[in-house]
Amino acid sequence: MIPSFYMQVTSFLFLLLLTIIFFIKSRIKTREIKYFSFLLIIVLVELAAEIALDIVAIYNMITLSNILIKLYAIAIILFDSLLTKYLCCLEADEKRVKVLNIIFNITIVVFGIISCFLSVEFIKNGNIAYAGGQLIMFLTLIVTPFYFITWLVFILRNIKRVSVKKFLPILFFIIGGIFIFIIQALSPGLIITSTIEALSALLMYFTIENPDVKMIEQLNIARDQADKANQAKSEFLSSMSHEIRTPLNAIVGFSQALETEDLPDQAKEEVEDIISASESLLEIVNGILDISKIEANKLDIINTEYSFRKVYKELINLTKARMGDSKLEFRYSMDETIPQVLYGDHARVKQVILNLLTNAVKYTKEGYLDFKVNSVIQGDICRLIISVEDSGIGIKKEALGKLFSKFERLGVEKEITIEGTGLGLAITKKLVDLMKGEIVVQSIYGQGSRFTIALDQRIVLGKDKLFEEKEQELKMIDCTGKNILVVDDNPVNLKVAKRLLDDYKANITLIGSGFEAIDDIKSGHKYDLILMDDMMPKMGGTETMKKLHEIEGFNMPVIALTANAISGMREKYINDGFDEYLAKPIQKIELNQVIDKFIGQNK
Ligand code: ADP
Repeated sequence: MIPSFYMQVTSFLFLLLLTIIFFIKSRIKTREIKYFSFLLIIVLVELAAEIALDIVAIYNMITLSNILIKLYAIAIILFDSLLTKYLCCLEADEKRVKVLNIIFNITIVVFGIISCFLSVEFIKNGNIAYAGGQLIMFLTLIVTPFYFITWLVFILRNIKRVSVKKFLPILFFIIGGIFIFIIQALSPGLIITSTIEALSALLMYFTIENPDVKMIEQLNIARDQADKANQAKSEFLSSMSHEIRTPLNAIVGFSQALETEDLPDQAKEEVEDIISASESLLEIVNGILDISKIEANKLDIINTEYSFRKVYKELINLTKARMGDSKLEFRYSMDETIPQVLYGDHARVKQVILNLLTNAVKYTKEGYLDFKVNSVIQGDICRLIISVEDSGIGIKKEALGKLFSKFERLGVEKEITIEGTGLGLAITKKLVDLMKGEIVVQSIYGQGSRFTIALDQRIVLGKDKLFEEKEQELKMIDCTGKNILVVDDNPVNLKVAKRLLDDYKANITLIGSGFEAIDDIKSGHKYDLILMDDMMPKMGGTETMKKLHEIEGFNMPVIALTANAISGMREKYINDGFDEYLAKPIQKIELNQVIDKFIGQNK
């Protein structure tokens, strides 16, 4: 028997076992694992060819031995190139990996074709048998050195970046290769190539990344659970902020009503404080609502036609109110070429700018606040360039990176007295992203900050007049002799609405459910305006409004009252069939606009 026969059989059985174990175990489909699977099969083929050659040698079957030698040579080329491809996938650049893969596929084909044309010789000398001829020379002198050099280049290129562990099987094979060369020179009949390959494969079994599939499944389950918990939290936050709006409605409503009363100075001041505190609370609640929507991916941008100039004026008024008695110099300017009517989400545009202005006021004790709006018009797109600059506390360089993360309050240790939640800029960034805009910040710690937003809005032509009319100032309207119906299941809300409407001197009717409202109208009562809460048990406002419209001859304006104060709600309610929409807490100015539109001179 050929001397290396028993070693080859043992290697084959051993590798077969390893292959079975590897294929039984569940695997992750990575490129590394794919190459390793092929590698195992090729070494098995090589070993089988070696064993077969030994048997063929015994029976002197020359033609079969030549075929087996060619198969064996091709298997060696495949083994070497697979090792090379395994090394390729350790490269950092994915594009480079792809290119290298193509190159090495081409080399397999070239070497394979050459091998087919080269001659082989089967040499048998008593008990010793081995292969020779052009093919074996080609493998020894060209193919093997080519791959050895390639591997060394790869290893040297990546040794700093990739763990040495990954290169162990290849280093082992290179040393083994030199060993094979020496052995074959001394004793050509001792064929150990496939045995060394099998040992390299064994080593590789322990060095390849094969993450535990079970662990990954468990991680996926844990991630799903965390996602669900996060969703539950978002829903909780959303319903909680909705619930908070109802009592807040009472606070804002009554304090706004009290403001107009003839009160002693101290009481008047206290009422103003209540209003300002409730406005802050409302802002926080809105922030929580927004962040929960962002997390649940439910924050939508609702574009409509709007007047940017109106938004600009409102922003200036709100900022002035926010500054109160502060000695800050407030400079503002707007590019006059900004078109009257733009198409975009005006509520969100206002929200992001207001947040920057509010921050500038909050974080600036003295100096100035500069609010500028410029525009670049290209075709039907108006790029708004909004900049808010202050001479305030500024932001440290290292903190700038975290600026747009939620709940991050930078430098709070120093500014602990400034109230805030750290949500504003996270929401601002998200909204600007959703509107496909850009926001950048420049700041020098101790000197001030400048936030700049670039926002593309489509220009709506030919509607300037309409929006100019809407901008007119509104005065308190006398509604003597007019009838207003308020439908709300919450008695406190009814009381607030009545208190706010009392100033208009209209006849006010309060009703606690949709059913009673329908009965009331059916019994023949006529109203000039109906304010309808949407969230009522059993029959909601929308359903009640639809039922009212089914009553013959019904043509009274119905206004939706809702705590769902997110943008786009107006469009939703109007699409549903309401004539207008009022967000809770009811703001006097908005109520005034609605009354003016449906009862007043603007009717
Ligand atoms: P909040 O103001 O509620 O804390 P924001 O998300 O609006 O939350 O802002 C996050 C942090 O960024 C603030 O806590 C503050 O430290 C810093 N910051 C924001 N705007 C300014 C500004 N104009 N000047 C200085 N610091 C600012």
